[in-house]
Order: sequence, then structure tokens, then C-alpha cells
Amino acid sequence: MILSRRSFLGTGTAAAGAALVPALARPQTVRLSADPFSLGVASGYPDETSLVLWTRLVPEPFAPDGGMPAVPVAVDWELAADERFAAVVARGSAIAEPELAHSVRVEVGGLAPDRRYWYRFRGAGAESPVGRSRTAPAAGADVAGARFGVASCQHYESGHYAAFRAMADEDLDLIIHVGDYIYENAGVSRVRAHSLPDAVTLADYRQRYALYKSDPSLKAAHAAAPWIVTWDDHEVDNDYAAAFSEDDQDVDAFLARRAAAYQAYFEHQPMPMRMRPAGGAPIYTRQAFGGLVDVYVLDGRRYRSRQACSYGLAEPCAELETPGRTMLGAAQEAWLTDSLAARRPRFTLIAQQTVFAAMDQRPGPGIGYWTDGWSGYPAARARLIDCFTDRRVPNPVILSGDLHAWLVNDVHGTPGDIDSAVVATELVTTSISSGGPPQARVDGWRAENPNVRFANSERRGYTRLTVTRDRLDAELVAVDDVADPASDTSVLGAWHVLDGRPGALP
Ligand code: FE
Ligand code: CA
Repeated sequence: MILSRRSFLGTGTAAAGAALVPALARPQTVRLSADPFSLGVASGYPDETSLVLWTRLVPEPFAPDGGMPAVPVAVDWELAADERFAAVVARGSAIAEPELAHSVRVEVGGLAPDRRYWYRFRGAGAESPVGRSRTAPAAGADVAGARFGVASCQHYESGHYAAFRAMADEDLDLIIHVGDYIYENAGVSRVRAHSLPDAVTLADYRQRYALYKSDPSLKAAHAAAPWIVTWDDHEVDNDYAAAFSEDDQDVDAFLARRAAAYQAYFEHQPMPMRMRPAGGAPIYTRQAFGGLVDVYVLDGRRYRSRQACSYGLAEPCAELETPGRTMLGAAQEAWLTDSLAARRPRFTLIAQQTVFAAMDQRPGPGIGYWTDGWSGYPAARARLIDCFTDRRVPNPVILSGDLHAWLVNDVHGTPGDIDSAVVATELVTTSISSGGPPQARVDGWRAENPNVRFANSERRGYTRLTVTRDRLDAELVAVDDVADPASDTSVLGAWHVLDGRPGALP
């Protein structure tokens, strides 16, 4: 059955995008030689009554235009309470526009809280795979438990995505991605090659997403659970800061590149239309799971001050300590601290990009900070720590990525002072596939920093979080062989955080 465009009008749910279609551009009928749903389906940003559904029409993922004619195409969708679509609860039609790479974004409202749903699309004579999602519990509901997966850093050439296969096989309420969803550079091919150049233009970034999202395990993970996402540096350019590129590109040229990268990111993620970056909309947000847990998702790239002292590992210099330097920018920081102060969940998860805890990375005498992480932004970190303590933020747990290693860190009230009280916990998740630093190096960090409780850079994988009223359990799920797309996984370690007691326990 192909649903008519009219049927959408009857269901009263919002399909975003229609307002963007120029008055004379009407959806056209296209017949394609290949399956346009080659990148699968996704859902995201669940609240208690709504979900965002996503797909993209791209019959030839590796062609610059995706193999699509430059015309708008109507795509029908339906969402059901059961896997077989016997009980369809919402349906409609959305427009896949060439201006957004024929991505389709449907914001379905009017749903029941804490409920599983299944969804699919039809368009251009084809039918998509079925995706599974779920809404969040009602605000303030006394939720017994929630299960999340945390992912970061999925360099395509460095490995297969067996970690995502394992996540797809789980019953996760949410998958949280903290960045490096793509890598913009043409890297070394350790496991699988591609021939795309360094991404600079919109067409380049679109092709990069098409490449990454053609991976069957990544598609399976998107189809299995709703996601919330944030970008780190490699979605645009290694270690960039706001308008400043890694190699000091002209600011206007870099901002044009960044705009292209942000647009391609938006086109390929199940984000709500309000996050469309073209108008400057932020992507930081908060997702609540009843009264149990708030998940903040931050943007530590777009608004940050430029890295201080020298690039990479640096001896602290005066500039590093400048009070006005920021990681989040004034608006995001004010939103975050106001929200943290106002809300009382059992656990407060803060998903963001780079390592938060103080970490001296220079073995022996002398201090070396990685200036791209929070140790390079000590004043901004101190302001957030003060918020944790002054506003008695319930059980703050920071979820980080970037490092390609697992670290379990205590966050002290005075970073670097091991005698100051522990005020928060940090779980740094290893990479899905990107190569990590040598184990000897991360062992050295642990020896140098007693607040680093665990460090493993040898294994790829994800972190599985189980949150209940009294505790948060973090299992480090490691892939046996990143070169094997069907690799098994095993739990490398398990840590927990108890209600009312900051810091991780083995
Ligand atoms: Fe990375
Ligand atoms: Ca040292």
C-alpha cells in the first residue's frame, strides 16, 4: 500500500520541511534503478510524546549527487505500536528536498510515554527497512531503570563496527554519540579503504556520511534504538575551535567549510528541525527520562575559545588560566548551569566531547596538559564544578569520548588536588573503531594521576549504562577483533556510581 499525501493531513502530526519547499516546487514522481533507502533509517530525540524519524533517499551513495534527480520527492511514513504494523498509530507524507540531500525528517507527536514503536518509509517506488524506537517516560515518572549505550570515534578505515552490531542486539532506551561520527581527513587504511578526498565541500561531507552510514552494523544500531548525538572536531576539521581551523585557514573560508560540515551532519542525523544549523540553531540539549535521569548533550566545539599556550601537550602558561576563556560559550554555559540548578533527577548525565578531569599527561616532573580538552580550559571547568557543588547537582556523571581509550576518573573539587573532595564521576568511552594510543602511555597517565582509576586504550567498543534509583552501572563492552565485522564482544570491566557518593567504584 502506498499512502497518499492526503492521508498525512488527517493524522495531525507534524512533518517538518514542508514550509521550506518553494511555492512552485511540487513533489515529483521518480523511479530509481537502485534502492533509495541504502543508508537505512534512524530515530532520535525521544521525549514523552514525540520522536524524530529519519531516512535519506540515496540510490547511489557514492555518487556526488547520491543518484537523485534535483527535485523534491514525497516520502510516506508510518509508525505502529507493533512490529507487523497491524496497529498503525500515525502516518503521513514528508518531502525529501534536494536542498537537504533528500533527507527525510519527521517529527511525530501525540505518542504515549515509555512505549516501543516501529516505523518505516515508502517512496520512489521502494520501501525502507523497519526501525524500532521508543518514547521517553513521562516527566517526573518514577522510572525503575534505563539502559543507554555510549559511542564515539568511528574512523572507517581503522575497523569494522562490530560494537554497533552488539548495541543493535541490546534493548537500549537510547544511544548517545559524543562525536567523531565521521573523520574528515583521508586517513591511513588499516582495515578497509576508501578513496574519498579530504572533506571540504558540502558534496564531500555528504559522500563521507554516505560512506560511513552504508555500514550494515551502524545501520542496525540506528534502526534498533533512538539516538541523541553531538559532534566533536572530526565532523569538521581536527581540533578546530569555533572559527579557527587546525592549520589556520582563512576564517571566512573555514566558516564556509564548517557550515557545509554542519549541514551534512544535520542531514544525516535524526535531529529535530529546530536544530537545523543554517540559522545558527544550537545542537546542545537535555533529554529527560522521567524523574530518574537527565541526559545533557553539549557542544564543546562551536563556541569555545581557541586552544591556549601551544598546540597539543603543553606546559601550563598564563593564557591557559585566563578567566574569560570558555569551552561552551556564554549562552550554552548559562543554559547548562541554570538547568542543572533547577532540576532534581536521581542521576545527571553530561554527554560531551573531551576529557574533563584533571590529567597530567607528562610522565615524571613537570606538568603537561592536552590543551584541546578541559585541562586546557581550567576556568571554564572550575565554573562547572562550582555549579555541581553550589547547586547540589544530583549525582553528576560526565560522559566523554575523543581519547580512543576508556578512562574512569574521579573529578575533584579542585582539579589536580587529590586531597580535595570528589564531586563528580567521569566515564571516558573508548572508540568504536579508531586506533588508540599505546597502553603504556595510558598506564603512565594512571600512574601520574591518582584520580584516573582505570585506563585501557587497547580495546575498541562502547559503554553500557544501566541507571536505577540507587546506582549507575557502567559496563565497558569490548570488541574482540575490530578487523572482524562479526566479532564477539566481552565485558572488559564494570564500574558503578552510588546515589549520593561521587566517584566510581569497581
Ligand atoms: Fe576520534
Ligand atoms: Ca608530570
